[in-house]
Amino acid sequence: MKEPSRFGTVTPEVVEQLSAILGTGGVSVDGEKIAAYSRDEVAERFWDRPYRAEVLVFPESTGHAESTGHVSEILRLANERRIPVTPRGAGTGLSGGAVPAFGGILVSFERMNRILELDTENLCMTVEPGVITAEITRAARKAGLLYAGDPCSGDASFIGGNVAENAGGNKVIKYGPTGSSVLALEVVLADGSVTWFGGKRRKDVTGYDFVHLMVGSEGTLGIITKIVLKLLPLPAFGVDLLIPFPTVEAAIRFVPRIALEGRVTPASIELVDHHSLSQAEKFLNTQLPFDQAAAHLIVQLEGNDREVVADETERVGKLALEKGALEVFVADNRSSRDKLWKARKSVAEAIMVYYQNYAKEDLVVPTDRVPDLLFAVDALCRKWRMEAANYGHVGDGNIHVNLLMADDRPHWHEDMEQARQELYETVRQLGGTLSGEHGIGLKRKAYLPQFLDAPQLELMRRVKLAFDPNGILNPGKLVFWDKKTEEAGA
Ligand SMILES: Cc1cc2nc3c(=O)[nH]c(=O)nc-3n(C[C@H](O)[C@H](O)[C@H](O)COP(=O)(O)OP(=O)(O)OC[C@H]3O[C@@H](n4cnc5c(N)ncnc54)[C@H](O)[C@@H]3O)c2cc1C
Repeated sequence: MKEPSRFGTVTPEVVEQLSAILGTGGVSVDGEKIAAYSRDEVAERFWDRPYRAEVLVFPESTGHAESTGHVSEILRLANERRIPVTPRGAGTGLSGGAVPAFGGILVSFERMNRILELDTENLCMTVEPGVITAEITRAARKAGLLYAGDPCSGDASFIGGNVAENAGGNKVIKYGPTGSSVLALEVVLADGSVTWFGGKRRKDVTGYDFVHLMVGSEGTLGIITKIVLKLLPLPAFGVDLLIPFPTVEAAIRFVPRIALEGRVTPASIELVDHHSLSQAEKFLNTQLPFDQAAAHLIVQLEGNDREVVADETERVGKLALEKGALEVFVADNRSSRDKLWKARKSVAEAIMVYYQNYAKEDLVVPTDRVPDLLFAVDALCRKWRMEAANYGHVGDGNIHVNLLMADDRPHWHEDMEQARQELYETVRQLGGTLSGEHGIGLKRKAYLPQFLDAPQLELMRRVKLAFDPNGILNPGKLVFWDKKTEEAGA
């Protein structure tokens, strides 16, 4: 790609300096390897050009201070030479966040993967950014504790990527997104200096809340090298209710009744429409009950008292039937609960396998506007001859609308783009927003001005300037920088 003049390039001398920091095993200029790491789960065919890093580096946790020290030295070098630096977790992102839009240095965190401490007195865990999310869940569970972050990609995603995206997932209605579990972050700033934001404390108004400015900043403000996560007591009992409905609208209209009439706060309320479920069933070669229903809700209830959980299960089940549910299935053992969640968690992957041309959206509207959003999606599909698969975290109004093209029309990209723009306009009018958890990255940046006004965009630019005066951290993402850079790159 054309190199914008304000960035420096990775010369053989830079590679040598990086090797001096990390050892030769920590640096790669292998073209195939770089190509494999220069992408995330947004397929390359969606970009107008291939994006490639110039060098790939792997800071490693060989000693407590060393890995952070390595990241610090890398940034100091990059900042001096104005070389772009893109942090990369597991590459499961759905916004092109880890794609190196301007080349430069791609920093993989896969070798900074240690759980450093499980502090049962302070109910928290300190980890490096490359720990897989599910490993954190398992380590906490072993100690009778709950780590509440639960993205559907948790078997693969890294905690650093979760924090940088403020990943959501299945338990947000009860516990909040990843950021709600973050107590403190060790961050390497653009000039290589190292600082801690927050600490092992539950309250802190000493200065700006930099912890939660970093959360969701997509690697544009600093590089996260350690994370202190809040843990909770692990609920002793849990059940999942699978509730089929004859229409999607009936399913969605039932959601607020759970709290209002049932007086229950579930851990999860997930929606899977018929088309989404059938993709997951095909993908897993499995079948869920009532799979011809227009939509299913998955409602997870949990608590420490078996009787209370049983009572809530009955209340929610009874209410669902009163509100038009076709049936209520209760999954209360490990294997039936796993089967249910496996199907739910496979929907995103299944759609990507069966459709080449799609727009995978991450829209959020006020919960009472979700039916309006889905009516608009239906109309859009008729207009543009597309299909839709809608699923997601309906409890918090975050719906993954997937616009799908079954045919292979020549101008699919243009059609999809038009349809997306119309969809975004509808979302805006409904009081909604562009992304609830997948982030802006490269994929959605052009649409930010539809949702954020000029003073906010300018404020973001100034915050970016304060943290990263030379604009080396994940350039091309999230923030509008200057016109020259925008035109030259992403
Ligand atoms: C099948 C599937 C299901 C998914 N389900 C969910 C879901 O339920 N909820 C949800 O929220 N998301 C979901 N996602 C999206 C994705 O998994 C999340 O965005 C996740 O947080 C990305 O983590 P990662 O480690 O793969 O990060 P990457 O994709 O590698 O990177 C994501 C961003 O984080 C930045 N970053 C990574 N490490 C650091 C660091 N140490 N310091 C600073 N910045 C860093 C990168 O630069 C990039 O901007 C799903 C994705 C897939 C493919």
